[in-house]
Amino acid sequence: MTGFSELTPILLIVALLGSISPDIDHPGSWIGRRLRVLSLPISSMFGHRGITHSALMVAAILFTGWHFNFSSQYLNAFAIGYVSHLAADFICKSGIPLAYPLKMRFNSIITIKTGSFAENVITLFVSIACGYIIFVNF
Ligand SMILES: [Zn+2]
Repeated sequence: MTGFSELTPILLIVALLGSISPDIDHPGSWIGRRLRVLSLPISSMFGHRGITHSALMVAAILFTGWHFNFSSQYLNAFAIGYVSHLAADFICKSGIPLAYPLKMRFNSIITIKTGSFAENVITLFVSIACGYIIFVNF
């Protein structure tokens, strides 16, 4: 475990990129609008909240990072951001397909409505928690 002095803005940006990456499957999302060349085919093949919102994709990201020998700090930061997005979508009523390719969707027992005040509060809490995890681990 290392201290705060090693937490760099680049690590935070990598975590932020991880947190928005699952919505590449939605052409109207922030990342989908900027990477339309990827977003449109992924959206048409898998739909929104499809494979990019699954444990399979998290495993693929970690395996790819390991295979290409990416720095573990950057890979972990990206993965933490990515999983934070899945956690946020997990508490929404529509849930996420964690066990993709199975079509079954999973969500928390208590769900919230997308765009509600409760979502904003929980998003803030998860963001702080992720920041703390990054802070403690890097
Ligand atoms: Zn999402």
